[in-house]
This record gives sequence, structure tokens and C-alpha cells, in this order.
Amino acid sequence: MARALQSLFRWGHYLRAPLRVSALVAGPRGRPARSFWRTTVQLESSCGKLATASIPVARTYSTQAAENKEEEALHSIINSTETMQGATSKHEFQAETKKLLDIVARSLYSEKEVFIRELISNSSDALEKLRHQLVRDGQALPEMEIHLQTDSEKGTIIIQDTGIGMTQEELVSNLGTIARSGSKAFLDALENQAEASSKIIGQFGVGFYSAFMVANKVEVFSRSAAPGSPGYQWLSDGSGVFEVAEAAGVQPGTKIIIHLKSDCREFASEARVRDVVTKYSNFVSFPLYLNGRRMNTLQAIWMMEAKDVDTEQHEEFYRYIAQASDRPRYTLHYRTDVPLNICSIFYVPEMKPSMFDVSRELGSSVALYSRKVLIQTKAADILPKWLRFIRGVVDSEDIPLNLSRELLQESALIRKLRDVLQQRLIKFFVDQSKKDPEKYAKFFEDYGLFMREGIVTTTDQEVKEDIAKLLRYESSALPAGQLTSLVDYGSRMQAGSRNIYYLCAPSRLLAEHSPYYEAMKQKNMEVLFCYEQFDELTLLHLQEFDKKKLISVETDIVVDHYKEEKFEDTAPATERLSEKEAEDLMAWIRNVLGSRVTNVKVTFRLDTHPAMITVLEMGAARHFLRMQQLAKTHEERAQILQPTLEINPRHALIKKLSQLREREPELAQLLVDQIYENAMITAGLVDDPRPMVGRLTQLLTRALEKH
Ligand code: ADP
Ligand code: MG
Repeated sequence: MARALQSLFRWGHYLRAPLRVSALVAGPRGRPARSFWRTTVQLESSCGKLATASIPVARTYSTQAAENKEEEALHSIINSTETMQGATSKHEFQAETKKLLDIVARSLYSEKEVFIRELISNSSDALEKLRHQLVRDGQALPEMEIHLQTDSEKGTIIIQDTGIGMTQEELVSNLGTIARSGSKAFLDALENQAEASSKIIGQFGVGFYSAFMVANKVEVFSRSAAPGSPGYQWLSDGSGVFEVAEAAGVQPGTKIIIHLKSDCREFASEARVRDVVTKYSNFVSFPLYLNGRRMNTLQAIWMMEAKDVDTEQHEEFYRYIAQASDRPRYTLHYRTDVPLNICSIFYVPEMKPSMFDVSRELGSSVALYSRKVLIQTKAADILPKWLRFIRGVVDSEDIPLNLSRELLQESALIRKLRDVLQQRLIKFFVDQSKKDPEKYAKFFEDYGLFMREGIVTTTDQEVKEDIAKLLRYESSALPAGQLTSLVDYGSRMQAGSRNIYYLCAPSRLLAEHSPYYEAMKQKNMEVLFCYEQFDELTLLHLQEFDKKKLISVETDIVVDHYKEEKFEDTAPATERLSEKEAEDLMAWIRNVLGSRVTNVKVTFRLDTHPAMITVLEMGAARHFLRMQQLAKTHEERAQILQPTLEINPRHALIKKLSQLREREPELAQLLVDQIYENAMITAGLVDDPRPMVGRLTQLLTRALEKH
């Protein structure tokens, strides 16, 4: 250190000017590489010229002192060193610029705080340009940093970078003309744009003026990296004129001092600025300091190669982006260039979604970044609504941003992006289900509701079927607890079959003992068992899967009737009602039930059940009744449903009924009412069984009469 200072003074002596050390800024603690340990020394001569040197400091020198005093380990380059010299030239903003300035300052941005994002983005661009130039010329890179400083007493916020800076001409043209982006011009002038274009943020040429939303005066000091460039001051109150003058003591790069309007003093508060920086600029590529403290320690991992990001980094990033304390159960890091440029990471939370998550009306929860700068924390249109349980980030150069870059324009491109991401996520989940079916089953249990919603709300049949690849059900062909997909069902189908059968019931037990399943057994077909409330609606909406019709077994029975398909009775004639007895009984039942049924029929497809109700489109009818709470009585329901009561002529109850109806008409009536009601309950068409308790009590009393 001492030797380095000595050599500086020697250099000062060479300038033949008396020198004094005007600032000594200690290097910060805890920085990653030893080479970062530097001390900035500024030397001032009597005539105001200034020399700045960044001297490497041996750790042994300063660590001791710094370690003793934790608070002193701040790193800042912002110092008030500038002095004016030479004449000031006054400029007027061009006429149209004046109007634009007004628009930008008043109404372009919805939030004032974004001026910080805009200025940091400009600094990042300036550093990127310098880096690009130095690398091209094979030169070593200096410290590349962005510093923010708040001063609540003075009511200022300063942002300073060690970037490429601006010459006098650049100050006049880049900051004097709205909608002229020096950054865009820089890119256009490059031969190899591809590499730099993903890193340069600016493109519209209005961001700088966002400072006038909060400032009554903006002061810019800038010194171009071009050899021998002097420093300049640019000054404006945003009212239509600006001044430019040469200045001494300007450090290489750009420093912008914002003198805050009295109602915008909040931005002179460190805490407020920290929040804004963390929100928008946490992933800027260059080290960012606020009042000497390092801010952006998280990396924009979505821009990295997937294989270079480890689980820990993902967990940390997930907790940041999802504002959650759990961890991701699934992680998809997806980068592509075709058909669009996309760098993205998607997470499924470990935690089960809450009712709030499920019912939320908003679109996706994924954050949208453009070149590492936040555009929206929740970009509603980036994913279809049903994927709103996904957390993560999408960064795409191809996204069309409007001038304030705060809004996405719903466009063919956004639709395309949404489609590509949806397809990729579906594929990811299908792959995961093969890799670890158990883990997937848990995921489906927790998040299956979203998939069902996706199928119901999507209009495109192809997309419906894509989402349907994610559905899982138990099946009559598999043991309880084992889940199967529609694709797997298809692979087990016999040649020539064209239907996928399903049965909605509250549980496997009820499904297996349902009269409809019993009736289906004769066909010897696999039946999927669906236990969730929305399965029925989902499958009704889906209608088809891979050219196979999805058919509820309840509907199938009715369809068979229409086709007049005959199911032979295999039992001996003595064990069932004769045709005549059956005809008479049916006529009597029709009479007793009246408008509660549309028809009464004999069926040979039942075994243990005395009767069942069949309705055309049972699922839809059930859903309709559930939605319309109008039809309260059996008569009202029957009018809508047009139900058929199918009776099993081999069943003891039915046989008994046939005898009882003449001997004990009163008891027979009670029995047929209950058989009907039981069949309606089994069909899921009765929500409230309480009204039948009275009848049951009567029946029980009769049953015990002889004891
Ligand atoms: P954009 O960033 O979209 O180009 P801005 O209005 O934010 O538009 O900035 C206008 C121009 O001013 C930039 O393109 C750049 O040439 C110049 N500029 C702004 N800030 C800086 C800075 N910190 N260092 C160097 N040049 C800058
Ligand atoms: Mg900008």
C-alpha cells in the first residue's frame, strides 16, 4: 500500500503540481476474489485536476482493521469531486422532444419507482458497451460497478457507473433527444450483434427521462472512455432546456444526481430504494451497491446452462421468485432459440396449493424479465390460466414490449410463446410421470384440479387432449391404488374397440358395487373409476381422446337400449318373473310412480341390484341438476331427466313385489317408492336423502311387526 502511494506521488511530482490525497476508500470485506481487494485513491492538484487510482491492497493490510469494524466494510466510489470549468453551453430540447418529455414525466410509466430500474439499466448498458470494446481490443477490464447513494438530508439519489461514459456530443444527442437510443445505435453499428444484443437493455430512448418524474433537477457528470476525453456536466430541470459544460474531477463513466421533488423524497430513503432495486434490478450483470452495500448477489440462473445450476441455487432462487419458504418439487429449466428465444425456469411448489391458489382469478404467477430486468412480477398472459400454480421466470428477447416496457401487447407472438411453454410443460410432466410414477401421483393428487380446469376451459380439442395426457385414474383392470392414464388405457384396448369407458363414483367400493358397473361387466370392458367431483365435467368436455370416444358406463347402457342390443338372460326361467308377470308389474309400477318416471323396463344386465335408473347423458344431467338448484321434487327432476326405471326380474325384491302388489298394496307401494328412491340415490341424482327417512321408518316398523 505504502509503496503504491509513493509511486502515485512520484507520478504527481511528474505532473509538477502539488498533490494531496482527497479520498481514501477502503476496499470492502468479503468480496469473492482477492484481486477485488482494491483501494481507490484520489489525488487533487491545486488547479483542480484530479488523478484517481485504484490500488490493489494486500489482504494482510486492511483485513485486520476491516474485520474489527464490521460497519466500515462498505464499498463506494461516489464522491463529490467535480468542479466546473469553461463556458456553459445552453441547449434547447427539440420542440417534439419537449412534448415527449412531458408525456414521459407525467404519464408513460404507471409507477414512479421505475426510474431507478431505468437508470440502472442504462448503467448496465454503459458497462456492457465498455466491456465489449475492451474485450474486442484485447485490453484488461477495470472495475465494473454500479453505485447508488441516497441522501435523505439533501433529498438526492445518485447513481454512478464505471461504464463507457459520454462525450460532449453524445451528451447532447443521447440525452438531448428523446426517442434516440444511443444503445440501439451502438448495437446497429456492431458487426456481430447476436452476442451483445441479448445483453444491451436499452432500445427506446426514453428511459433516462423517467428521472424527471421524480426530479426537479437532474445533474449528469460523464467522462467518456475514449482516450483523452474530458469530463462534462449536463444539467436540466426538465422544462425544455439543458446545459452542458466541461467539468474537472469527473471520474470515468457516468454519475447522475437526482434532486428529488418534495413529494418524491421517499427515493432518498435507503430502505425504499433497496426494495425497488431488489424488485427490478436484482439480476443485473454487474455488481450493484447501495450506500456501499452489495445488492445483487443472486445470479440470473435462467440465463445459464441448465447443467451449471445446482439444486441449492434453484432452491434459493425459487424462494426469491415465489416469495415462498418451501422448495420446488419439480424444476424445469428450459432454454431454446426456436421457434422463439426463451430462457425460462419453472417450479412446482412442494406445498399443496391452498384454496386461495385454486380460486384465484388471475392468470399466471410467472415473472417476466427482459434481459435480466424485471418487466412484470406476474405476467398473466405468458402461461395459460390453468398453469397458474407454476412459479418461475421467463426471459425472452423476442417479447414485444411497449415504450414503457411495462405492458405486454397481446399479440400473435405472445400467443405463440404461451403455446410453446404449455406444450413444453405438458411434455415435462408426462416425462416425470414415467420417471417416478409415485411422485407424479402425489403431484396429480395435489394439482389435478388445475389440469381438469385446463381441459374444461380450453376450446381447442387438440390442446384438451394434450392436457388430458396428465390425467390419472384407477381402473377396473388394475388393483386398487394403482393409477393409469388414458394413453395406457388405449394400449390395453382390444383391437376394434373404439370407446374408453369410465364411471364416476365417490370411491372404488361404490364404483364396483354400482348397478351401472354391474351392468357393464357383461361387456367385459375395462372401466376407469373417477372419484373427484370435477372428473365427470372434465370427461364430458373432453369427449374424445386419441380418436377414441369417452363414454360413461351410465350413458352406454342407454345407448345400448337405443341400439336395441339384446342381453340374454342366462338364468333358468323359474328363477325370474315370467314375461306376463313382468308386464303386469311394470304397468303397476308406472301407475304408482306416475310422473316420476318416463318409462319402466326389464333389464337382464343387473345381478345384485333390484333396479337402476337410466337417463340419456347421465353425467350432463347430474351436472345440470347440481348447478340449477331449482328441481327439488322428484316430479320436477323427472321432467328434466326423463328417467327410465330398469328392473331386474330375477331379484328377490322384484319377485316379492309382484306378489305383494295384490295382497298388500299399501306395503308394495312403500317398497316401490323406496326401490325407486334407492335407484335415484345410486345414480347420484338425490342430494338430500332426509325426506325418505319417514318412509324408511314405516318400512322398518313393518319388518318388525311379526317379531
Ligand atoms: P435507451 O436506454 O432505451 O437507449 P435512455 O433514454 O434510457 O434510452 O437513454 C438514452 C441514451 O443515453 C442511451 O441509449 C445511452 O446512449 C445514453 N446513456 C444513458 N445513460 C447512460 C450512462 N449511464 N452511460 C452512458 N450512456 C448513457
Ligand atoms: Mg435506458
